[in-house]
Amino acid sequence: MQSTMMDVPLSLNHLLERAGRLFGANEIVTRRLDKSLVTHRYADFHRRSRALASALQRLGLGKGDRVATLSWNHHAHLECYFGIPAAGGVMHTLNLRLSPDELGWIAGDAEDRYLIVDDVLLPLYEKFAAMHRFEKVIVFPYSGAPVPAGYVDYEQLLADADPDGHVYADHDEHDPVAMCYTSGTTGRSKGVVYSHRSTILHMLVGCMPDCWGLKATDVVLPVTPMFHANSWGVPYAAVALGVKLVLPGPHLHPEDLLDLMQEVPPTLALGVPTIWMGLIQALDASQQTRPGRWKLPPGMRSLVGGAAVPESLIRAFAKHDVWILQGWGMTETSPLATVSYQRNELRDAGDDERFRRLAMAGVPVPLVDVRIRDVDGRDAPWDGEAMGEIQVRGPFITGSYHRLPVSPDKFTDDGWLRTGDVATMDELGFVRITDRTKDLIKSGGEWISSVDLENALMAHPAVAEAAVIAIPDPKWSERPLACVVFKPGQAIAASELEATFGPLLTKQGFAKWQLPDRYEVIDAVPRTSTGKFSKLKLRERFVR
Ligand code: ADP
Repeated sequence: MQSTMMDVPLSLNHLLERAGRLFGANEIVTRRLDKSLVTHRYADFHRRSRALASALQRLGLGKGDRVATLSWNHHAHLECYFGIPAAGGVMHTLNLRLSPDELGWIAGDAEDRYLIVDDVLLPLYEKFAAMHRFEKVIVFPYSGAPVPAGYVDYEQLLADADPDGHVYADHDEHDPVAMCYTSGTTGRSKGVVYSHRSTILHMLVGCMPDCWGLKATDVVLPVTPMFHANSWGVPYAAVALGVKLVLPGPHLHPEDLLDLMQEVPPTLALGVPTIWMGLIQALDASQQTRPGRWKLPPGMRSLVGGAAVPESLIRAFAKHDVWILQGWGMTETSPLATVSYQRNELRDAGDDERFRRLAMAGVPVPLVDVRIRDVDGRDAPWDGEAMGEIQVRGPFITGSYHRLPVSPDKFTDDGWLRTGDVATMDELGFVRITDRTKDLIKSGGEWISSVDLENALMAHPAVAEAAVIAIPDPKWSERPLACVVFKPGQAIAASELEATFGPLLTKQGFAKWQLPDRYEVIDAVPRTSTGKFSKLKLRERFVR
């Protein structure tokens, strides 16, 4: 017997056309370089994305050809998300926080033919221009200034193109639409290539009520860069539902984001924990200096992920009626693989249990299989205690890397992705990340979780940020070193650190041998190219 269902491929083109037909009047708000706001309608987005597709085809873009973007979060970047695939191309988002050397290498590895770049990022492009020759460099005049000679003007290109002039290439749902490189914290960056199918399935899972719970009346603020795992897929979801988007451009300082939230209050915002840590500190500080200047939008939901989300942060936002939902994933997993939400079994749980769960990575989302494998390659029991590497499998999980052989350190023989993250899983399927394999601290043969120590330290009211790294030790092989950033005016004297934090950590259940041997007070925790704590840089500084 055969199914009677139509064989229609899942396609981003469908979402683009649907948005044009159904949501023409809905808004996409962008923050300009001068911080003023400009509003486009979905009708503009539809026309301009099609014009981009038409222009790219006229330039000679062929099916599967890569078009790189080097851009902040704004309306033109959203046009690339749909216009490039509409022309049959693959959008390759370049991470503007990487070094020029890495960018040049990545553009070469991806064999990018064209580049669409913000005028304000041309100085960065020029630093790697010699490493990779794009056939055309198309400049989006984000600043409003005229596009310098020698480049193609994005606006002129669109103005000259016929929005009905492109041909939707015939495609299979497995055809590629976008690619993104991993940040390369462990070796060279690797290319992950998303398909129509993986992108749409991931977007549908993300829209579910226990995830983003996206609905037509939402106003979405993606602080997560559009060059980082496709801003976690939320731009695709916004277009699918015609949801109002607020795109912050390069203005990501806490003060700027708080100002933006007063002007266009979002109902859903997405970003890494460091962004939200900065936001709550700025907000709390302003309540002393300028009470009433800022208010968080009441009832706002916030999906936070990309690094562990401390319970103290979730509680701090809850006091402002803002609800943080934690997700775990990686570029390779599109990225949403687990989400912490309130399972039915926990309906009657008290606040403490609820917050404890929210501070976990969460439960596997539909379509994603998760297993925890111990060092001997056996399945670890779901008892919340046994640790092992998380391995995942599913229709929006990468099964290989661009141009690389499938290697056993990244994929298992039976086809699961090895994430390199260490975790436990409990009887309800809640994953708790204890570390990245390379960040775990091995002391006297026992593992110490740097994430657990950091979360406990960040629960101290004077601590703004904490990052724990391993330092070599002749006796124990490794011992924990805690780097602490204090809130302004709340520093604790170096001589008092151990006496302050030791009892706090012991009270939270840490054994004596798990306590940091050393504390260092620093001004700020260095960040990676995706805005997370950079333990690599801390190790360079403190491990000699
Ligand atoms: P990178 O961190 O290398 O830039 P990704 O953005 O793909 O690359 O990040 C994936 C990694 O981020 C995961 O493997 C994991 O270590 C970390 N991560 C993501 N979400 C969480 C979370 N909720 N808790 C702890 N770690 C997380």
